[in-house]
Amino acid sequence: MGSLLKNNDDLKELVESLNFKQKIDRSLALLEEAFAEYGDGLVVANSLGKDSVAVWDLAVRVNPAIKGFIITTRYKPQETKRFMLDEVKRYPGLTIYKNDVVIGEELYNTDPDRCCDLLKVQPTRQAIAELNVKCWVTGLRCTEGRTRTDFKEVEERDKGLIKLNPILIWKEREVWQYLALYNVKVNPLYKEGYRSLGCAPCTRITNEDNERAGRWVGTSKCGGECGIHTRPLIKVI
Ligand code: SF4
Repeated sequence: MGSLLKNNDDLKELVESLNFKQKIDRSLALLEEAFAEYGDGLVVANSLGKDSVAVWDLAVRVNPAIKGFIITTRYKPQETKRFMLDEVKRYPGLTIYKNDVVIGEELYNTDPDRCCDLLKVQPTRQAIAELNVKCWVTGLRCTEGRTRTDFKEVEERDKGLIKLNPILIWKEREVWQYLALYNVKVNPLYKEGYRSLGCAPCTRITNEDNERAGRWVGTSKCGGECGIHTRPLIKVI
């Protein structure tokens, strides 16, 4: 069998054609192959959302020594902050990054792109540099919403930095199926009805098809991205 890291498969077809077990096996195989290739340079970005905790669980099944980082901000809900501290206690391999720079009051209303850039993208750059990341692993899924349809399982958006999206073809239902069947702890805010979690001022409960419709409601970023998946993460010298 050829390398799964170099696959050219039709992902939209796989979303529908693979069953739940086949998707788990594929995700584990992607992680195993990437860990064999990048070793310590493989690091999981854990946003503490449902997709991230599923990927984190898969990664530590592949090898308990795999490391991860969490980007938090001053605006995360209390429930998420408590869940984060519980997760770090459970998994000492997780490192927290946060930018405490002084910013304008309610910058999330006046310039949410700038706010996300300072509070999310910059600490992600710092994590990638400090942890010497060669391959970062995310919980992106191609059925999450309009901004996430064109990612690949293995990408190199920044030269020299591989991005692995091992559950890209999972559906929302399959993530919950995995979390329930494998007893993975989740952020209690999901019990309130949230489907996608972010900072408190920028996250609402919605009931639309688009899972990310509750993010940045009322701004130009509505249903969009904070920037860690769209902005450069390493400086080209
Ligand atoms: S999600 Fe909102 S509060 Fe959080 S960093 Fe982005 S704009 Fe700021």
